[in-house]
Amino acid sequence: MNYDFLAPNQIVFGWGRRTELPKLAARLGGRILLISGSRTLERTGLIEQIVSGFTNPAVPLHRFQVASREPEVADVDALVNEFRRLSPNDRDVVVAIGGGSTIDLAKAAAAVVQNRHGDSVQDFLEGVGRGLQITLPPLPLIAVPTTSGTGTEVTKNAVISSYQPAFKKSIRSDLMVPRIVLIDPELTVSLSRETTAYTGMDAITQLIESYISRRAAPIPQALCLSGLKYAIPALPAVVRDGRSRPDREAMAHAALLSGLALANSGLGLAHGVAAALGVHCRIPHGLACAVMLSTALKVNQSVRERELAELERLFDSHHSTNAVAAGAFVSRIESLCRDIGIPSRLRDLGVSADQLPLLVPASRGNSMSGNPCDVGDQELLSLLQQIY
Ligand SMILES: [Zn+2]
Repeated sequence: MNYDFLAPNQIVFGWGRRTELPKLAARLGGRILLISGSRTLERTGLIEQIVSGFTNPAVPLHRFQVASREPEVADVDALVNEFRRLSPNDRDVVVAIGGGSTIDLAKAAAAVVQNRHGDSVQDFLEGVGRGLQITLPPLPLIAVPTTSGTGTEVTKNAVISSYQPAFKKSIRSDLMVPRIVLIDPELTVSLSRETTAYTGMDAITQLIESYISRRAAPIPQALCLSGLKYAIPALPAVVRDGRSRPDREAMAHAALLSGLALANSGLGLAHGVAAALGVHCRIPHGLACAVMLSTALKVNQSVRERELAELERLFDSHHSTNAVAAGAFVSRIESLCRDIGIPSRLRDLGVSADQLPLLVPASRGNSMSGNPCDVGDQELLSLLQQIY
């Protein structure tokens, strides 16, 4: 065995533990640069409640409100400029409270602001920029996720979009892993049914794709087994009853594990195509993953039969052979998606048939490179046509 494993310095997990945030932040530094993006939490007063805990005059707080959409190049550059007006130094701490989009925006800005050899975040984006690297440590970051899905609170990349030209690419560096992650599942109670379903399917897709990835490794695989055991029963339950504490906790825990797993072993075809669906058709990330997941599993079923059988046996150990168990796992995922109202066809998402050829090259990112089997352009196009 031979592997690396990258993770935040500290993970703080528990119902109601958001009250510990001011103390954790004060331990890291001088000023707090607080980024929040969740309109829901503003409406419910939770953001104000968190902010009111920062009472230590030695640790001044600067607030930045950002749009709660998937971050674009201009959003990151604007936030970097706002940071620069404060002449930040490495005693400042960025605190990001929000969904995956807010945390990605904060991670990218915390990195770019300290790496002045680039003019824009685009200079650092894989495949579309000047190929610049993050060489200096970003401002230390505390991530406080308010959805249970992307896992970006523990990963080393941030996904940044552009619509003209259209791309969705990562800025990535080992230095970008958040320093502290605070997960308070109570923050997810007010999420809508739809957001709960989509972000939950993102976490499940990440756990499965990491488990069968070409770069699968022992620690991430162990995490995936634990995460799926929690998430697959909890997701339909929490979509039915968003106030269920044990199910919200299960999904928050599974999402955390999915982030740790994907950051250390990569993803696959569902995530590759989801990036393309996001940028060309503006489909929310988790929904795109959910629609693509069973197709991705069928494509890889013959080369990952044993692994898919292992996942099925977390729930039912009575299948006679690996082939039967692997097939049952794919059916389990299909019925989970039906159960929580995920459409099964791309046309139901508003994708038009003439967009399908555009999706093929746009799917070829870092995620696709982890897919267990090679899928050629023609094969990928015909897969997309089959589920259109
Ligand atoms: Zn994802």
